[in-house]
Amino acid sequence: YSFEQLKEQTRLAALGTRSAGLAHEIRNPLAGIKGAAQYLQGDADPAEVQTFLKVIVDETDRLNTVVSQFLAYARPFQIHGSLTLANHLVEGVLGLVRAEGLPDGVEMITELAPGIPRIHMDPDKLRQVLLNLIKNALQAIKEDGRITVRTGLGTLMAPPHRGNPSFIVSVADTGAGIAPENLEKLFIPFFTTKPDGTGLGLAISRRIVEAHGGEIAVQSRQGEGTRFTVRLPLLVPDLDPDQTLS
Ligand code: ADP
Repeated sequence: YSFEQLKEQTRLAALGTRSAGLAHEIRNPLAGIKGAAQYLQGDADPAEVQTFLKVIVDETDRLNTVVSQFLAYARPFQIHGSLTLANHLVEGVLGLVRAEGLPDGVEMITELAPGIPRIHMDPDKLRQVLLNLIKNALQAIKEDGRITVRTGLGTLMAPPHRGNPSFIVSVADTGAGIAPENLEKLFIPFFTTKPDGTGLGLAISRRIVEAHGGEIAVQSRQGEGTRFTVRLPLLVPDLDPDQTLS
C-alpha cells in the first residue's frame, strides 16, 4: 500500500464506526417529520397547520444537509489544483459573507499579507473550508464580536514536513471559545455542540486541507475566543504538469 491508500483505508474503516452517528442524525428529523404529519392527519387546528408544515419543510432541509455533508465527507474526492492568488480567494469569500449580511454588532477585519506567491490549491474546496470556518466563528459570537481573517507566510508544523514553507490563513473570533475537553473532538465527524449542527463541517475541512498536504489547527480559550489556522505547503513537489494557471 502506498501511504495515500493506507490513509484511504483508515478513513473508510472509520466511516463504518460513524454510521451510528449518521443513523442518529437521520432518525431525529424523521421523527419530527412523522410527528408533524401525524398531527396534520388528525383534526389539526387550522392556525397550527402552517407551523407543522414548516416543521416538515425544515426537517426535510436538515436531512438533506446531513446527507449531502455526509457524502461530501464519505466520498473519495479529487483535488483539482491550480495556482491561485490566495488573497484574492480570501477576499472573494469575505465578499460573499458580507453580501449575506453580518449580524449587527459583528465586525469582520482582514489582514492580508502582501507578496504571497500563487498557491497550489483547489479554489472551490478552499472556499468551502473558509466559509465553514467563518460560519462557525459567526455562530460562536453571541452578541458583539470580531472576526479577524489573516493571511501570511510561515512553515508547516506537523511532521514529516515540519519546517517546510507554507501559506497560512487563519480565522479568529472573539466568541464563546471551546471547552478544553472538546478541543480534541472538533474534527471528529458528527461531533457538534449545536442543537441544529451536523458536526461535519470541520471533519470535511480537515479532509480538504490534508488532501492539499496541509494542516489545520485550533487554539481556543473559553470566554475569549477561538482561532483556526490552515497551513498549505508552498512547494508541491508533484505538481500536476497540466494544471491551469489562474
Ligand atoms: P457544526 O458547526 O455543525 O457543529 P463543525 O464540525 O463545523 O460542525 O463544528 C463542530 C463543533 O466545533 C461545533 O459544534 C462547536 O462546538 C465547535 N466549534 C467549531 N468552530 C468553533 C468556533 N469558532 N468557536 C467555538 N466553537 C467552535
